[in-house]
Amino acid sequence: MVATPIGNLGDMTDRARKVLSDVDLVASEDTRQTRRLLAHFGISAKLVAYHDHNEAVAAPRLLAALEAGRDLALVADAGTPLISDPGFSLVAAARERGLTVVPVPGANAAICALSAAGLPTDRFLFLGFPPRTPSQRRSWLAGLANERGTLIFYESGKRVVATLRDCGETLGETRRVVVARELTKRFETYLHGYPAELVRRLEAETEQRLGELVVLVEGRANQGGGERMEQQRVLMILAETLPLSQAAAIAARLTGTKKNMLYRLGLELGLGGAEG
Ligand code: SAM
Repeated sequence: MVATPIGNLGDMTDRARKVLSDVDLVASEDTRQTRRLLAHFGISAKLVAYHDHNEAVAAPRLLAALEAGRDLALVADAGTPLISDPGFSLVAAARERGLTVVPVPGANAAICALSAAGLPTDRFLFLGFPPRTPSQRRSWLAGLANERGTLIFYESGKRVVATLRDCGETLGETRRVVVARELTKRFETYLHGYPAELVRRLEAETEQRLGELVVLVEGRANQGGGERMEQQRVLMILAETLPLSQAAAIAARLTGTKKNMLYRLGLELGLGGAEG
């Protein structure tokens, strides 16, 4: 599993170059692109196509070559193979057969983004690409609402505004978000903000949606007790003059929290008297 650069060719490691020069076969998703990359480094290798559409035919051939004692390198178009890229079933099958599989590490967009975003790194969840359909994406996000680690996912510039809007509606408007764009490339940019702010910014500055993007969203725990304190404060002020259900509805809009959650919080705080 040989990682290649995600943009800056200077990130190609010496070990990756040596392994790609030495192996008998290089399997890649897009052989034309890989050929260009290898040519840049003066490497000539025997390339074979390995992608989602030919996996069923290609995998048995590659496994047979490995079992016959040949060395194979798998590369992605860019970055680390298997990370939102093909190769999982090949690696799993190779391991089942007792064949040796080793990584030749290098760039990965998710980890690069995490290391530079300024969001907590002690616990994180990598999620690949979100579902494209809005309803599926919202339920996918709702399923992540309690995750304490930083959420990391890949997204296209076409969908990023809709996805950030869904993040605000589903996870609340108080989580810090970073959109990391064109990592290691000329227009490398990190946009920081809360979901609604970033929606406005990306709508206004269309160039910020160009190229490749990683989205990082602060996890639930990292909002700290501060968020709950703020919800409590707003709810208590409103409940001084309004029935709890109305106070919870307004507090939900002000704090980006679910109304039901605030209603339950109000009951816990003994604020339900006006309706009782
Ligand atoms: N296997 C790759 C890796 O290790 O990062 C990821 C492959 S996935 C098919 C491609 C997605 O990764 C892009 O759509 C984008 O979300 C993200 N990506 C790749 N290169 C990037 C870069 N230079 N800057 C930001 N995101 C990048």
